[in-house]
Amino acid sequence: MSQPERRLPTDTADGMLLIISGPSGVGKTTITRGVERSIPDAVFSVSCTTRPRTAADVEGVDYRFVDDATFESMKAAGAFLETAGIYGKRYGTPKAWVREQVRRGRLVILEIDVAGAVQVKGQIPEAFSIFVLPPSEETLLQRLRDRKREDETAIQKRFGEAQREIAAARASGVYDHFLVNSDLDASIARAVGLVLEERRRRKTDGR
Ligand code: 5GP
Repeated sequence: MSQPERRLPTDTADGMLLIISGPSGVGKTTITRGVERSIPDAVFSVSCTTRPRTAADVEGVDYRFVDDATFESMKAAGAFLETAGIYGKRYGTPKAWVREQVRRGRLVILEIDVAGAVQVKGQIPEAFSIFVLPPSEETLLQRLRDRKREDETAIQKRFGEAQREIAAARASGVYDHFLVNSDLDASIARAVGLVLEERRRRKTDGR
C-alpha cells in the first residue's frame, strides 16, 4: 500500500528535476557534482546498476550495485522512473525517492543517458535538461586518451559511441540546453546559472 503524502513545514513548491547527459569523457560527472555542491537544496539521484563496481565507485553514493535478478524484480515492481541498457548492463532511476524529493521542493539531479532522458521527459515534460558537449571531436578524443583508462581500441570504440550519443541527443528534441564544456569551472557556473534562471522563471510564471 502506498504511503499517504505527508507535508512537512519545510516543503516548498520549488521542486525541479534536472537531467544532465553527455558522452563519456566530456566532464559530465564533474559538472553534475559541481552543480550539486553549488545549489543548497540539490540532491543527486543514486541509480541502481548491474554493472560491476570499480575502485572509484562508492556504494550508495555513486550507484546502488545490484544483481540482475534484483534489478528485474525492482523493475517489475515499478520501482524505476526509467531504465536503460548500456554496454549490456542495466541502469535505473529510483522512482519513489525522486518523486518524494521533488515534492519536498528540492532540485533532483539525474545523470542519465539520452534513452533515459527521453523516457523521463515523456512522463515529466517539465524536467529541465542539459546535454554536455565537448568543444570539438578532437578534444573529446584527446580527453579519452588522457584518462589513460583504456587501450586505443577501447578508446576508439568509446569515441564512436560518444559521437552516436551526441547525434541521438540532437535528434531526440528533449534537451533544453546544449552546454559546451571548454572549461570545467565556467561550465559548472553556466549550468548553475541556467538552473537558477529556470527556477526564477517558473516562480514568476507560477508554474
Ligand atoms: P558509468 O557506468 O560510466 O557510470 O555510466 C554509463 C552511462 O550510464 C553514463 O552515460 C551515465 O550517465 C548513464 N547512467 C547512469 N545511471 C543511469 C540511470 O539510472 N539511467 C540511465 N538511463 N542512464 C544512467
